[in-house]
Amino acid sequence: MAAAIPAAMERLIRMLSRLPGVGEKTATRFAFHIIEQPPEYAEGLARALSDSRREVGWCSRCFGLSESPLCPLCADPSRDDSTVCVVEGVPDQVAIDRTGAYRGRYHVLHGSLAPLRGMGPDDLRLKPLADRVLAGGVKEVIVATNVDVEGEATALYIRRLLEPSGVRVTRIASGVPMGGDLEFMDQITLSRALECRREM
Ligand SMILES: [Zn+2]
Repeated sequence: MAAAIPAAMERLIRMLSRLPGVGEKTATRFAFHIIEQPPEYAEGLARALSDSRREVGWCSRCFGLSESPLCPLCADPSRDDSTVCVVEGVPDQVAIDRTGAYRGRYHVLHGSLAPLRGMGPDDLRLKPLADRVLAGGVKEVIVATNVDVEGEATALYIRRLLEPSGVRVTRIASGVPMGGDLEFMDQITLSRALECRREM
């Protein structure tokens, strides 16, 4: 990098450019923006970064984000324990919950089955899902993985995994366009996909 850029700033640019979707050019722009702000801005940013890493972890039940052993969605006594909605990631959980159309519990897999990318069943939170269902009290599992090849393969795997439990397994309606990521779907489409779920 140019000698005009101090080493500390180069380190900042290097760290920022590791963020998804941020190349060196954007990272450099971010770094200059940070340097141009009052010192309190950089201090606040640094604090938010380290606090989030230290205080935010995974919920022990649904594997969503949480600052305590149980996340607010799992701890909320008004939610329906008999329905579990399975999603690939936290952004999907957020998108579904924002619709307000679903009042059950969640289970976050942290990915989808993708053998070509080396993602097998053991890389997802599938065993804890089976354990949750086998523990009893769950009547329906709604599989809300993305409507794409990997999401469908994951859904089929879950159906087979839960077959011995006898629990009802449903899939969100595929009226949603193929390749559509749940997190980018509008609330009405997502509510409808949930409402029109079908047996698997
Ligand atoms: Zn939770």
